[in-house]
Amino acid sequence: MKYQPVIGLEVHVQLLTDTKIFCGCSTKFGSEPNSQTCPVCLGLPGALPVLNKKVVEFAIKAGLSTNCSITPRSIFARKNYFYPDLPKGYQISQFEEPICQHGWLDIQLDGQEGKRIGITRIHMEEDAGKLVHGDLTGLDDNSGVDLNRACTPLLEVVSEPDLRSSDEAVSYLKQLHQIVTWLGLCDGNMEEGSFRCDANVSVMPVGSDTFGTRAEIKNVNSFKFVKQAIEYEIQRQIDLIEDGGTVVQETRLFDPNSGRTRSMRSKEEAHDYRYFPDPDLVPLVICDEWVERSRTELPELPEQCRKRFVSQLGLTEYDAEVLTANRPLAEFFEAGVAAHGNAKAVANWTMGEITRSLNDSGTSIRECPVTPQLLAELLKLIDEGTISGKIAKTVFDEMWRSGKAPQLIVEEQGLVQVSDGGAIESIIDEIMAANAGQVEEYRGGKEKVFGFFVGQVMKVSKGKANPAVVNELLLKKLKG
Ligand code: ADP
Ligand code: MG
Ligand code: ZN
Repeated sequence: MKYQPVIGLEVHVQLLTDTKIFCGCSTKFGSEPNSQTCPVCLGLPGALPVLNKKVVEFAIKAGLSTNCSITPRSIFARKNYFYPDLPKGYQISQFEEPICQHGWLDIQLDGQEGKRIGITRIHMEEDAGKLVHGDLTGLDDNSGVDLNRACTPLLEVVSEPDLRSSDEAVSYLKQLHQIVTWLGLCDGNMEEGSFRCDANVSVMPVGSDTFGTRAEIKNVNSFKFVKQAIEYEIQRQIDLIEDGGTVVQETRLFDPNSGRTRSMRSKEEAHDYRYFPDPDLVPLVICDEWVERSRTELPELPEQCRKRFVSQLGLTEYDAEVLTANRPLAEFFEAGVAAHGNAKAVANWTMGEITRSLNDSGTSIRECPVTPQLLAELLKLIDEGTISGKIAKTVFDEMWRSGKAPQLIVEEQGLVQVSDGGAIESIIDEIMAANAGQVEEYRGGKEKVFGFFVGQVMKVSKGKANPAVVNELLLKKLKG
């Protein structure tokens, strides 16, 4: 039998606010354990939570950028469970009436039609603390509880079960990741858990309209692992069914070392969270003005930016895609276009030399030593014929090293292109005299030898001869 996988993702997005969601403690990462805590996030009796307005603003922006409607009156709920890293014995989350609902994202896979993936809801919640085990605590074999992360703001973005393959899931996830980082809502660091994903996977016979039983794979923390975990899980479920077994609803863990998922707890062991509205927090009322103000504050989104690069700047889809990979890169490119004007040339250099040098040196685009303005000056030197495209690469490397302006480097190193016909002609004469054999070959019809002569002229001129002039004069002279 043929099977159709069905996938729905629940994504946790850690928000880049300075302070926690219900208290004023700092959210800074990596401080001394329990140094960023107060009675509220420690869950001391009598301490009352106060909602951080910034979290609401971030949630509204996330919702608007994913085509959600913003719930005018949303409420917080207590999700009850016991774990040592959860001091209150419940997590404040949203259950009924989450802040954002009924959104969607369009994904596009190579060679396929675009597809709309529904977003069921986005809700706000607090993170739990962290358990630290053994050596790390300095407590020998004991475990410690670090509550610095307790009460850190999260958004949970829940998709509809609209995804049908691991590739669709990864494409959706990458787009969501791009949006929240583009908006500055999240640092997007998957390894550190700032953006993490639970994947719900089921399979059903092709043509069926009833979904199979799903397994939920917890906390997968890279795009690659999401793909691997989903693919493994699909095959595991198919094998199980083919062997006459049935899939049970359960929570599973992905092990990156083995590439497999394994059972963590079954539905019978699953928590009954006993959700109920949190009496300590009043309903959150969001007026239309607030929503509209947020809408006007939104920057151009990556998808719009990509489309504009194609329609206004004449880039190919591919180039536009690469240059909108993240916002600083898109801004770098646009600043370059503003300073130079030739979008295609700026795109080529940004995607070529700039990106290569950033990667080689592990530098982020924000710290790029060759600014868009300096890149534009370099391109101008090529346009004016002062240097050749080839020499420009040498100049670029020097700009990268020294941060100097290209004009200065060209002057200091005497790299100005030689376009003077007389000078080039005398080089050609010399070379032809020294290579009479090749001249004969060329004249005898072996046109490939032409490249040899171009190479020689470039070598003697140290790359400075203007290639167009060299070609023209060589043709004339060799034809004799
Ligand atoms: P829970 O809160 O128990 O995890 P939800 O109903 O909120 O359950 O669903 C969680 C996720 O599971 C959603 O992303 C949804 O799209 C997905 N999902 C629901 N049913 C299935 C299914 N049969 N196969 C795959 N994914 C599913
Ligand atoms: Mg779930
Ligand atoms: Zn606190």
